[in-house]
Order: sequence, then structure tokens, then C-alpha cells
Amino acid sequence: TESRHASRARFFVAELSQALFDFVIQLLPTAEEMAVKEDVRKLLERLIRTIEPDSRLLSFGSTANGFSLRNSDMDLCCLIDSEERLSSSDMVTMLGDLLERETKFHVKPLAHARIPIVKLSLDPSPGLPLGIACDIGFENRLALENTRLLMCYAMIDPTRVRTLVLFLKVWSKRRKINSPYSGTLSSYGYVLLVIYFLVHVKNPPVLPNLQQMPPMRPISQDDTHVGGYNTWFFDDIELLRQRWQSSNTESVAELCVFNLIDFFRYYSRDFSYNTGVASIRAGLLKKESKGWQNDLSSSKYNDARERNRFCIEDPFETDFNVSRCVTKEGLYLIRGEFMRASRVLAMRPRALTALAQLCEE
Ligand code: ATP
Ligand code: MG
Repeated sequence: TESRHASRARFFVAELSQALFDFVIQLLPTAEEMAVKEDVRKLLERLIRTIEPDSRLLSFGSTANGFSLRNSDMDLCCLIDSEERLSSSDMVTMLGDLLERETKFHVKPLAHARIPIVKLSLDPSPGLPLGIACDIGFENRLALENTRLLMCYAMIDPTRVRTLVLFLKVWSKRRKINSPYSGTLSSYGYVLLVIYFLVHVKNPPVLPNLQQMPPMRPISQDDTHVGGYNTWFFDDIELLRQRWQSSNTESVAELCVFNLIDFFRYYSRDFSYNTGVASIRAGLLKKESKGWQNDLSSSKYNDARERNRFCIEDPFETDFNVSRCVTKEGLYLIRGEFMRASRVLAMRPRALTALAQLCEE
């Protein structure tokens, strides 16, 4: 009967949401891991200052935005405050030499990469059972800002946003569709897809659009622009938490599960991959309006076509397609996985079976 059906649906949602929370909690980094990482950052900062006294070494990416999983890589960015500074590639070379001499890290300086970085890793040890991997870049101020934007979104509704994002990160890694080097999408790309979905697709929205809210006081151009890009967003999260009452009335538990189900359904069925651009700043845009069309048959445009199969606009660097590394095959895999996940959830299996099946390696 109808009521039997409804109560089974309620049970499915309640059970799955509890299982989701429990699943995600055991994947969070331990306090010890966070402390070790902070020690590593401080040590590296001290060493870098022997080359550039006016430098700071800041964390960005998952270690800084609240979406970190156990044993995730560490992304570090070195900012040099003095007027006269070495070029990034010189810094990479010098820092590479220094770290090789002074530390136990395995060091790989990539001085001539598009974005010069030093790659570091540390072998596993008793205090650090999985070792550590870390990239140090230079002057990447936009990355620091987009990290701060994601952190603010995470903080508006910590339980729900973080549960969804962390689950999707694990899911995409286990299903092997989280690798820009082999034609699929970076974690950063998945996080943007989740935020886009919660701001622009869910109706009523679960999150406000922080880049379109009116500022509380007048702001000057200088304060809001980094490298020619507007990086302003509403970041008074305390105020926002008091004011932003999503008119979405689904309960915390329901919302997590419905968001997950709706997320997979939206990206397997409704998102217009051929013509659409997901923009957390401006909602759904047209590839055409950004000059990112991929339907040009001329061989001259093959490159553009390869780069723009799947389009996610960077929140600040708006002429940059975050998913430009996604290939035809990669997109096919990703969409296949969205569909598979939708199918698994539609059968309403018991919660533990559902999670195990979704994340099967
Ligand atoms: P993980 O825990 O899997 O390492 P993460 O949250 O650190 O996930 P990454 O994909 O490693 O995410 O990205 C880290 C940071 O690097 C992002 O916050 C962003 O600033 C920058 N970044 C990564 N990929 C891109 C990209 N394709 N375009 C622009 N910036 C990127
Ligand atoms: Mg990272």
C-alpha cells in the first residue's frame, strides 16, 4: 500500500544518511596527521626563508578548505613579499637543491613545467604510516583565494556540504575517475560540481551564491582583484550562518541522501554536456557565449574540441576551464559512473550494501 511504500522510503533515507555520516567520519584525517602536516609546513617555511627571508608558506587545497581525506596530499604555496624576487623557476631550482641537501624528503624540482613546482615525498615511518606527499608552488594567489571560497561554502553548512563532498571524493577515487592525468576530473572539479549543484540546481537552493551577494560595505578594486581577476565574495560566514536560512526544509538527514541521489541523477541525465558550462559564479552558461564550443569540425579546432568536452568555469579565473583535461573517453567513463550510481541508489538496497556497491573498487 501507499503508506507501506512511504515508510520503506523513509527507512531507506534514515538508514542511508546514518551510514553516510559514519562512512565519512572514518575517512577524516586524524588530529595527529594534521599536526604532522603542520610541522612539515613550518619546517619547510623555515628552510625557504634561508633563500627568501620575506617569504611565507601557506597551505591551500584540501588541507586548507575543509575537504580533506585521510592521507591526502599537501598543497603548499610560497608567497614572497619583497619587491625584488627570484623567478618561480629559479626558486624551484634553488629550493630543490636545498631540500635535497638538508632533508630526508625525496625531491623532484619541476622548474620548467607550465606551473613550476617542487614535488616532495616522505617514506612511511612509524609516526607517519602512509608517508606524505607535497607540492610547493609559488605566487599562486588565485589558488589561495579559491581555497578560501570553498572553505566558506563548507562552513555555511558543515555537516551537509562536507558529507556530500567527501563522499564524492572517495567515490570518484575508488571508481578511478579522479585523475586529470588520465583524462578524468580533479577533486577540485568534483567540488565545483557539488557547489554548482547546491547553489544553482537544487530548488530551493541549499547554498547561497557567495559571489553574487551584495557587499556589506563599499570595496575598492585593489582589494578585490588578483592578477586581473575579480576574487571578491561574501566571506562573513558568521553573519551568513545567522541569516541564511535555506528555504529548503528537508531535514539534515534527508537532505544528505536526497542531495546525493539528485546529484547523481542531475549529472547522469539533465546536465547539458554538449552545450552547457557549469559556473558557480553565474549558473548554467552556454559554451558558445564563452567561446568554448566543441562542435567545430575543422581540424584547426580539434584542440579546442578536446579541451572543451566538459566545461566547468573556474570561480575566479573565468576564462579557464577546470575540466579541460577531460577527454572523450574520460567523459564517457565519468557519465557512466554517474549513471551506475543512480541505478544503485534507485534500487534502494540496504545502506551498507549501497555504500559498498557505490564505492566498489
Ligand atoms: P585531494 O584531497 O584529492 O588532493 P584537493 O581538494 O586538494 O583534493 P586538488 O584537485 O588537489 O583538490 O586541488 C587543490 C587546489 O589546486 C585547488 O583548491 C585549486 O586551487 C587548485 N587546482 C587543482 N586543480 C585545478 C584545476 N584544474 N584548475 C585550477 N586550479 C586547480
Ligand atoms: Mg590536493
